[in-house]
Amino acid sequence: MGLFSNRKTIFVDSDVLVIGGGMAGCGATYEARYWGRDLNIVCVEKANIERSGAVAQGLYAINCYMGMQWDENQPEDHVRYARNDLMGLVREDLGYDIARHVDSSVHKFEEWGLPFMKDPKTGRYLREGKWQIMIHGESYKPIVAEAARKAATEIYNRIMVTHLLMDKKKKNRVAGAVGFNVRTGDFYVFRGKAVIVGAGGASHIFKPRSTGEGMGRTWYAPWSSASAYALPIQVGAKMTQMENRIVLTRFKDGYGPVGAYFLHLKTYTENVNGEEYESTWYKDTKAMVGDYIDRHPVPTCLRNHAILKEVAAGRGPIRMVTKEAFKDPHLEQVGWENFLGMTIGQAVVWASQNVDPKHTNPELTTSEPYVMGSHATCSGAWASGPEDYAPDEYQWGYNRMMTVDGLFGAGDTIGGTAHKFSSGSFTEGRIAAKAAVRYIQDMGTDEPEVSEEEYENFKAEVFRPLETYKVGRNEIVAGTVSPSYILPLHGLQRLEKIMDEYVGGISSGYMTNDWGLNKGLEHLQMLKEDLEYLGAEDLHQLMRSWELKHRLLASFSVAHHTLFRKETRWPGYYYRGDHMKLDDKNWHCFTLSQYDAKSNEWAMEKAPVYHIID
Ligand SMILES: Cc1cc2nc3c(=O)[nH]c(=O)nc-3n(C[C@H](O)[C@H](O)[C@H](O)COP(=O)(O)OP(=O)(O)OC[C@H]3O[C@@H](n4cnc5c(N)ncnc54)[C@H](O)[C@@H]3O)c2cc1C
Repeated sequence: MGLFSNRKTIFVDSDVLVIGGGMAGCGATYEARYWGRDLNIVCVEKANIERSGAVAQGLYAINCYMGMQWDENQPEDHVRYARNDLMGLVREDLGYDIARHVDSSVHKFEEWGLPFMKDPKTGRYLREGKWQIMIHGESYKPIVAEAARKAATEIYNRIMVTHLLMDKKKKNRVAGAVGFNVRTGDFYVFRGKAVIVGAGGASHIFKPRSTGEGMGRTWYAPWSSASAYALPIQVGAKMTQMENRIVLTRFKDGYGPVGAYFLHLKTYTENVNGEEYESTWYKDTKAMVGDYIDRHPVPTCLRNHAILKEVAAGRGPIRMVTKEAFKDPHLEQVGWENFLGMTIGQAVVWASQNVDPKHTNPELTTSEPYVMGSHATCSGAWASGPEDYAPDEYQWGYNRMMTVDGLFGAGDTIGGTAHKFSSGSFTEGRIAAKAAVRYIQDMGTDEPEVSEEEYENFKAEVFRPLETYKVGRNEIVAGTVSPSYILPLHGLQRLEKIMDEYVGGISSGYMTNDWGLNKGLEHLQMLKEDLEYLGAEDLHQLMRSWELKHRLLASFSVAHHTLFRKETRWPGYYYRGDHMKLDDKNWHCFTLSQYDAKSNEWAMEKAPVYHIID
């Protein structure tokens, strides 16, 4: 192992090992303690759970709340809503399971001190929309983190998990994970009887609209680096709907959210001539997707589609009409506060560009694609469903267990369940933890064992980029360029370019086809080979190296899934130019993939979609 053989290895034992202390991870840690009073519950987080994950900066609304106590919505309604928005394809068993429990999580947030806005007349939570309730949410994450901190045996912050460990004795059973401390460089071996992955979604796999100095500004958190997908993929867990990337319509340059504007401020959009434009594209869209365009509310991807068509017709940009709403001082205040609680950057961008929404209708744009399982898309791991509700084919053991024994997931990690958002992700973490505790209790003395050979090999692999850099820097030819290594930023830009141009990013108008996807896969393979020569100058760059490797693996998965599904199911998210129509006859199904790390092969298959709710 050369230069780094003296790096310290720290061993940590746990019963429940939670990877990622975001919304799902905090929910899992909290609930694991409830069911496993005497268990050793460990949560490992790349940043610091106090301010980590997509909710780090706070939120202004909790987007998934039924309001069953006031009979506002029932779980079945939410399943119908998510199914509609995802053009028919969701895991209804998993969605229902979250919806029936989510209110109790939200009530806990209030109990723990999160300030909710209330309707002064009814005393109920103030609704922003049918599913959203409004909060003063700047401190949402610290409040949730406190509950996890109190429940955990130990929280390990600043440790990036790079690989899962498999059981020495039993094939297809997880035994723990390894990672390194991004500040001290110590190597960690976590032994766990059950592992719950809650490591968020993936930004920066497609080239972002923001470039150069602004590159760090993306809609999805830049630190969400696809570990949630790469970790299970590496060990052969089946993934689902990885083609179902999300594209967001947001305020230009700052990616500021539009939900509160549409729902609470009742603003609306228009083209550059001040005209309504969605109806212009009704017939065209109907020809592509049939009566999905007639559903209410109109699916998110189809609204994007109308914007893309209108802009391509030369009548862009699309703008949000704010001037009317902002005449009302209360709505004006809400409009600004909405950013201050969750996307301060948008307010700063407007200030820097002299945009006052009271006097100027701000521009909207469609973002680059992201991969996530908790928003208006449902990419992620294929998981077992709840015993009392899932069809037999969706059940192989414990709720939220992947196709690898003992490996559970929640939030962005789990596929097929869109629209869970912050509260639903936390709730799914709780559901996964309850099942994980039962899995451990049922295990008896047949505990998994880690293999010394496996973790020592990982140790050598994890730190190799530091060694590559140290040797290669002697050959620097200019600035930081050396013929002996590739830097993480350069690798990232190459990945983003491949995904952008071949797999349906912004520069190709979200368009791809069979030829492009195969070409993209060829380029990804060459990038993979070159990443053997990643060079990391320091521990921070080492983290970037592993983030890149995780992003690359997730990108392979996205490309393979996109290639497999021969239809355009979600126009506005991406288009298969060679199959420009939605094809319910052949593709009203889930796509599943399984990666074999030994042969470097991807197996693809279809799985049925069961409509449990009418
Ligand atoms: C821009 C944006 C706006 C949103 N707005 C709303 C809203 O208004 N209302 C709402 O309810 N929801 C909203 N959501 C959705 C909500 O934030 C997510 O659904 C939720 O955070 C997903 O939870 P998660 O635990 O899966 O991921 P996260 O909360 O992102 O947590 C993932 C955690 O894993 C850690 N991690 C990642 N990789 C590793 C690794 N290798 N090792 C160790 N740790 C790792 C991360 O640091 C992070 O702490 C929004 C999301 C985004 C991106």
